[in-house]
Amino acid sequence: MSSSNELDKLIRALQIQPGIGQRSATRIAYHLLERRRQDAVELGNILISAMHNIKQCRLCRNYCDNDICNICHNPERYHSRQLCIVESPSDVAAIELSNNYQGLYFVLHGHLSPIDGVGPNELGLPQLDELLSQGQFDELILATNPTIEGDATASFIAALAAKHHIKAISKIASGVPLGGGIDNVDQKTLASSLMNRRPFSA
Ligand SMILES: [Zn+2]
Repeated sequence: MSSSNELDKLIRALQIQPGIGQRSATRIAYHLLERRRQDAVELGNILISAMHNIKQCRLCRNYCDNDICNICHNPERYHSRQLCIVESPSDVAAIELSNNYQGLYFVLHGHLSPIDGVGPNELGLPQLDELLSQGQFDELILATNPTIEGDATASFIAALAAKHHIKAISKIASGVPLGGGIDNVDQKTLASSLMNRRPFSA
């Protein structure tokens, strides 16, 4: 318990961040109060605006400000006729930083997990099905995380893509640690995983 109810509330609120426990939250709260009050007010306003305004792209389900995200909006992205499937928006950011991919993405926002009630609908697979039916892709790159759930999701999607006669279905190569997340891999490793992707079938 601190000397102020407002301070207690702030410390509790800061702990919604992964990896921030009570000790770190307390340190951050005092730091903001003592040295960064104005910046913290601005941060609060940015948070409110971001949480209200950031939406999902109608085509790829990545985060965006308008109906369609900047990546889907770029005509050059359609030339490669490649679609890369990832579990989370942070995976798109990691692949973009690796500078080794010029195609489009589809963001699942998770992986198949029937026990948690996450099935094909929650991952937007009817939307992916519709996208693949338009015949604008020659290659589907599965970049789900190398976990049991990620692999099961990749197999499910490969079967879906096979139905649409996509010419090549590949999966990113090893280098991404088993059980890890691709957004935690360094840029060089991720670039080589993408370059050394292997044909994949369900
Ligand atoms: Zn998009």
